[in-house]
Amino acid sequence: MPSDQPLRVAVIGAGLAGLSCAKYLTDAGFCPTVYEARHVLGGKVAAWKDEDGDWYETGLHIFFGAYPNMLQLFKELNIEDRLQWKEHSMIFNMKQRKEDIPVDEDGLIRAKPTYSRFDFPSALPAPLNGIVAILRNNDMLTWTEKIKFAFGLLPAIIFGQKYVEDCDKLSWTEWLEKQGIPERVNDEVFVAMSKALNFIGPDDISTTVILTALNRFLQEKHGSRMAFLDGSPTERLCQPIVDHIRKKGGEVFLGKPLQQFHLNDDGSIKELVVGSGGDDETREIVTADAYVSALPVDVLKLKIPEEWKSIDIFQRLKSLVGVPVINLHLWFDRKLTDVDHLLFSRSPLLSVYADMSNTCREYADPEKSMLELVLAPADEYIGKTDEVIVEATMSELERLFPQCIGTRAADPAKLLKFKVVKTPRSVYKTVKGLQPKRPTQRTPIPNFFLAGDFTLQMYLASMEGAVLSGKLAAREIATAVETALATGTEVPFSSASKD
Ligand SMILES: Cc1cc2nc3c(=O)[nH]c(=O)nc-3n(C[C@H](O)[C@H](O)[C@H](O)COP(=O)(O)OP(=O)(O)OC[C@H]3O[C@@H](n4cnc5c(N)ncnc54)[C@H](O)[C@@H]3O)c2cc1C
Repeated sequence: MPSDQPLRVAVIGAGLAGLSCAKYLTDAGFCPTVYEARHVLGGKVAAWKDEDGDWYETGLHIFFGAYPNMLQLFKELNIEDRLQWKEHSMIFNMKQRKEDIPVDEDGLIRAKPTYSRFDFPSALPAPLNGIVAILRNNDMLTWTEKIKFAFGLLPAIIFGQKYVEDCDKLSWTEWLEKQGIPERVNDEVFVAMSKALNFIGPDDISTTVILTALNRFLQEKHGSRMAFLDGSPTERLCQPIVDHIRKKGGEVFLGKPLQQFHLNDDGSIKELVVGSGGDDETREIVTADAYVSALPVDVLKLKIPEEWKSIDIFQRLKSLVGVPVINLHLWFDRKLTDVDHLLFSRSPLLSVYADMSNTCREYADPEKSMLELVLAPADEYIGKTDEVIVEATMSELERLFPQCIGTRAADPAKLLKFKVVKTPRSVYKTVKGLQPKRPTQRTPIPNFFLAGDFTLQMYLASMEGAVLSGKLAAREIATAVETALATGTEVPFSSASKD
């Protein structure tokens, strides 16, 4: 940036969007300072250590091959070796009622769980590898169902992203019906996929979400390949971003929540009030040349100043509301499985889960399992006690690991301890019709920009979406400066205070 004094940018929130924004701002020659409310980095990827030194996390997080901006970030930080790529497969639990599980003559259950796999052959390019993976799986869909589904998908393949965006007016169940695809396809595959993508069911989720994911998975050879991080996202991903920001002159502060925006007479931001205490001593006034909100949408709505409330872009935020989700960690005294991958539970209570003692280097244990499970939809359980949630989950595990869990298990496993992390407002609930409500990174307020997974970008509410939104917000700021310099006009946010 052609200036002696780098422009100062205050970034609010140290989730992936805020950290990515600050990282790309430092790369572009700006001087960002990040203000995070909590004493932990990462927002929805935050993690903590318990009293035994074991990690527990806000969410079980999967990185996909179809995450170009996230993978680029790993490369730029030189931490690519921290991604533990798994076999290119999707593994679903076979649906099995408890009463159908075979019991041996002695009254005990030795039957192991059964899985149905979609294996993507590495020798084939996309979309052939995906098509072969689907055709080879005969456990879940009949040939007729596969053919009907393939025909139903044709418009998305032929008309591309425009069609995908237009389908936002339909829920996934409505779209399946319109395409003449049997409802059983939903029960077999898309209840699990919809819960994994947005913690809601196919009757609620927008078609755009599912078609976007399918498009990425079918169009890119490694699109649906999954990786686990080799440790906690806070230490292994967020901290290196902070190190990069600091090395290049920026700063990240924890425990400094935004309280309020103070405005100039023209409605632009004059300064921020940050700090946790109610008294003046712990509160700080922050001034900068530009300001970026990387807050979750539900918090942003509460912080919008009165003067901005009638502006269309902020009005539209009302429709975006975080969805509840619960992440459970169960530590057992023995191994329940040796599967080193994400599993789709196909359980009414649970979404995806993994034995982190197999999938993640830092959590590895050759003797004992640590299951991390996502409970979704969570509306019914979000207000319940941890004990009630764990009891309901253990009951589901009698179906997923019948040989180890339950009174008739032949190889009973003991639950040693658990941690339950509830997020009452997580990513925004992607019901139909919300695409036009998502705000762009640039706002009508000249010195105020938005980042966050809910802002407009094609990767929906995900880590990739958050990283991309931060990058786009940084780009908007850089572009505004470059345009002003090229045209000889004033930078729209060159002065913080306009007293
Ligand atoms: C259970 C679960 C599982 C998930 N699984 C996956 C997955 O497998 N793959 C995937 O791609 N995505 C997954 N996600 C989604 C992903 O975590 C999010 O999309 C992404 O992390 C959001 O990043 P963000 O920066 O936009 O928002 P956030 O992470 O919410 O960051 C916002 C930050 O603002 C801070 N903040 C709040 N109030 C204030 C204030 N007043 N002042 C200053 N700071 C404030 C917050 O503390 C937070 O750090 C999952 C999410 C959950 C909850």
